[in-house]
Amino acid sequence: MRILITGGCGFIGSHLVRHMLKQNACEVLNVDSLTYAGNKENLLDVENSENYHFINANIRDRVKFREIFNSFRPSCIFHVAAETHVDRSIDGPDEFIQTNVVGTSILLEEAEYYRKTLEVTEANHFRFIHISTDEVYGSLKNILDKPFVENSPLRPNSPYAASKAAADHLTRAWFKTYGLPVITINCTNNYGPFQFPEKLIPMIILAALDGNPIPIYGKGENLREWIYVEDVVSAIFQVMSKGLPGESYNVGSGDVISNLEIVNEVCSVMDILLAKSKYRPHQNLIEFVEDRPGHDFCYAVESSKIRNGLGWSPQVTLDEGVKRTVSWYLNHRGWWEPLRKRIYTGERLGNLEKFK
Ligand code: NAD
Repeated sequence: MRILITGGCGFIGSHLVRHMLKQNACEVLNVDSLTYAGNKENLLDVENSENYHFINANIRDRVKFREIFNSFRPSCIFHVAAETHVDRSIDGPDEFIQTNVVGTSILLEEAEYYRKTLEVTEANHFRFIHISTDEVYGSLKNILDKPFVENSPLRPNSPYAASKAAADHLTRAWFKTYGLPVITINCTNNYGPFQFPEKLIPMIILAALDGNPIPIYGKGENLREWIYVEDVVSAIFQVMSKGLPGESYNVGSGDVISNLEIVNEVCSVMDILLAKSKYRPHQNLIEFVEDRPGHDFCYAVESSKIRNGLGWSPQVTLDEGVKRTVSWYLNHRGWWEPLRKRIYTGERLGNLEKFK
């Protein structure tokens, strides 16, 4: 198996690279342009593996990707690379359009060009797996609404979600028009080790650790479905092995809770793990701040299609996942501290400041 992964130096991508390298006779090529969110240290433990290769390239570089497809000759591409932070998409949507829309379109074109060079059997087995988000569906009005299903209309509300929805439409068009065997995965909020410190769960952990205020948008009532990153990686693997071309699969844990509840959960775990901290109880550090513009109220997906159809189910409960995640950040200061110093110091993003 020869697997091309875009964005393998990011959060989900690095877990996916590691997972694929554990498979029998699997050669992995990770292509990543190392944006602020890409970090080669996420893969320090495997970077010297014989079956792991890395190329620093941008998915918008058509010439480079034509060369990569022709020389590496993958049997599958996992397209994970993207600009991913909603708040940054509010401050600067253009980079999101360039990478998530234009970049995806270039990759689809180059994948199809390459597929045409394959023997019939190889071409039939080739897969383009596109990693997307539940945010493309927009927001449920409340938790009693039916969760989104795979054919719910796409009604994205943030520039990030709109750019991912555009990419989802492109993948569908490439399947319908050219027959490229594309499968899209729409997954819910991931958490776990190696997540960049701007995202909610690491942000809470690092603020609480230093006794800094833990900012929560609005009243903290917004609802999200949280899934442990290794469960998403196993879903991606299952979709590659058994998913049907042209289909999309929702991937969620069923654990839908409010932002305030997830913050409280993280704080409680920190109270236990840091029994001597002077900041206990960490809940006292919570500070409600002005809401994010256009903040979606509730995301939740129905994931019975992948559960019943492909035999996948999540294995890590929210309690267990949060414990693993908090412990990982507490034990990996050397990973996150340089990022906090060099790239993201914890400042508020996405508050429309530049438009005032
Ligand atoms: P991330 O921000 O941690 O990593 C993104 C990676 O892509 C980085 O390594 C970055 O360097 C690379 N990249 C960005 N632009 C690139 C470009 N133009 N060319 C090459 N490489 C580029 O992201 P993540 O959280 O791991 O998310 C991965 C994918 O999963 C994304 O497509 C995202 O939309 C999707 N997703 C994420 C979540 C989540 O909660 N993290 C939820 C649903 C869907």
